[in-house]
Amino acid sequence: VQLKHNYLQHISYNMSIIEKLTALYAPDNCLGCSLEGSLICTACRPTIPLSQGVCFDCHATISTASCSGCASKIGISSIAAATDYSGTARLLVACLKFRGNQSASKLMADVLSKRLSLPKDAVIVHVPATTAHVRQRGFDQARLIAKHLSRLSGLPCYDVLRRQGRQHQLGSERTIRQLQLFDAVTATKSATSIKHALLVDDVLTTGASLAASARALLTAGVTEITAVTFAQSIKKPD
Ligand SMILES: [Zn+2]
Ligand SMILES: [Zn+2]
Repeated sequence: VQLKHNYLQHISYNMSIIEKLTALYAPDNCLGCSLEGSLICTACRPTIPLSQGVCFDCHATISTASCSGCASKIGISSIAAATDYSGTARLLVACLKFRGNQSASKLMADVLSKRLSLPKDAVIVHVPATTAHVRQRGFDQARLIAKHLSRLSGLPCYDVLRRQGRQHQLGSERTIRQLQLFDAVTATKSATSIKHALLVDDVLTTGASLAASARALLTAGVTEITAVTFAQSIKKPD
């Protein structure tokens, strides 16, 4: 237990193979109370924080993660988050990013499907992680959540978005970073068969990745886009 908690506090993306294997085969302990058996035990499940209901862009207080104006600005009809990016939700995200932990992605998909109402006619499409992150971690965290969400909801899941490797987050200005991300996502040919896409991501912050993914889908001819994320990290303006 102690070992795993230390692991979580020292999230390093440059683990050795031995470290990765150790983490992979260690039994899950509850992130809330350390009880062995699952990442969040039944008793701690209610501690997974609720979404705050603040628009990701204009910070208006609403019931979901985006007001309709800010969602439509990036070509999406609605954006919802299942949790606030804090407490056990934040630990779960760390667990998934750090270990590629299947139980973390399963649990996140489960919380998503229980707390949010998903469209009935959509195809699940995950927001692709940056190629550098996939290379470092060896997996794409949103893809894992999308696969579990597909199994839980019965909605099909298409892997149709790609990151181009060329984007570097060099600019310190948020707008520059957004522009670089904007250019960095493309859709494969199979995206043209999708009418309604349900974009899935792990954490919503500035909405830049959702915007880039939505743009690629719209370019491919997708007519409706809805988005859900496991958590929302609220960056209040200074
Ligand atoms: Zn617990
Ligand atoms: Zn807004």
